[in-house]
Amino acid sequence: MPHRGAKLSNFANNNEAATFAASVHLKRTPKITVQSKLSDKSTRFSESVIRGMTQLCLRHNAINLSQGTPAYQPPPEVKAAAIEAIQEGYNQYSITWGAPAFRDAIAQKMTTFNDIPTDPDRNVTVTCGSTEGMLSALLAIINPGDEIIIFEPFYENYGPDTIISGAEPVYVALQETSASDSTIRFTYDPTELRNAFSANTKAIIINTPNNPLGKVFTHDELQEIADLCCEYDCLAITDEIYEHMIYDEKPHISIGSLPQMRDRTITVSGLSKAYSMTGWRLGYVIAPEALTNAIRKMHDFLTVGAPHPLQRAGVVALNLPPSYHKALVAKYDKNRKLLVNNLTKAGFRCQQPEGAYYIMTDITDFGFPDDTAFAHWLVKEIGVGGVPGSSFYSRLHLGRTKFRFMFSMADDILAEACERLMQIKAKI
Ligand code: PLP
Repeated sequence: MPHRGAKLSNFANNNEAATFAASVHLKRTPKITVQSKLSDKSTRFSESVIRGMTQLCLRHNAINLSQGTPAYQPPPEVKAAAIEAIQEGYNQYSITWGAPAFRDAIAQKMTTFNDIPTDPDRNVTVTCGSTEGMLSALLAIINPGDEIIIFEPFYENYGPDTIISGAEPVYVALQETSASDSTIRFTYDPTELRNAFSANTKAIIINTPNNPLGKVFTHDELQEIADLCCEYDCLAITDEIYEHMIYDEKPHISIGSLPQMRDRTITVSGLSKAYSMTGWRLGYVIAPEALTNAIRKMHDFLTVGAPHPLQRAGVVALNLPPSYHKALVAKYDKNRKLLVNNLTKAGFRCQQPEGAYYIMTDITDFGFPDDTAFAHWLVKEIGVGGVPGSSFYSRLHLGRTKFRFMFSMADDILAEACERLMQIKAKI
């Protein structure tokens, strides 16, 4: 067989030439299985179930009570400030860890609202949403073998976040328990929580108010978690994106405000929910200086920075008076009561959530084989979408009888959804 530099004229006939050409082609571009090129990490989690439910709702023209997108628009003065910032020329990168005026406004809000004294130059990193904030924080602290404690049901990003950052998740269940006033609350078993801590624990993730349960952690619960963090010398990472959405005059308590937690808390939050601007991607991370330096490095190489003109407008948002949040919470409270009442009448078992805009229900009484079967039936037969409870659990069986709805929806659409839900019993 001729060597690789052969010309066509070296071959005895066309067949020999074709065989040679094919062999060269094979050598130059060997067949690869693209699948085998994927990272192990990318195969350890799947697409978001919630976004999948949104697609299903679109296909069947169902009312989508699955994805937590706010029904409202950002306040007009904040939108005007964004347009003005673009016109004024704030169209290039800001300082990677955040425009000074925005960091000042965040530090002011953290110091007064969250009771965490915050220095804009030492403690604040502005990120592309709290989603990036959580990941940058984990990337800044995780080493191989580190464990992260996560309460379940959880916000679905925390599992993939731990995998991407290389941490090992350790799950603690939040379960229904009867309180002394006979109301049902979700809380953890103190022994299970203590057993989750070990010498390998790097941090515990807290989400208050919680998605998907609407649970607001009490002072006693946060104190117990804080004591364990001190005993095991680990950090608390707290996602407080729903901090302004708490009902019945309950207070929002940041674990970072507890005296012994000042130096061991990373607080993640953002403007997405409180100002109905999930598409603006404005979030932030508050941490002690040494941690902030590491978080800023991760953030810089992940995204460089959050949108500069929108950070300018974020200053206007953060300076809105408390009456703005009161009015928004009043709207959500109306929706919360309407949906809980109608879900109960329709045959779901559920409690009024204490915060955020989700209701976790129990669907046992409908007799479906599992939550996914129920989700598909509800979209196709009733025309309403929600989220199968198992997608919020690592131990899927814990969520198989559960189903989440969200209630950030325009009044008329929510009313229509309630009417549709009333047909469930007749259609089963
Ligand atoms: N954290 C929780 C608990 C959420 O429910 C959500 C969105 O649904 C986010 C974070 C994402 O927030 P952001 O838009 O700031 O990335």
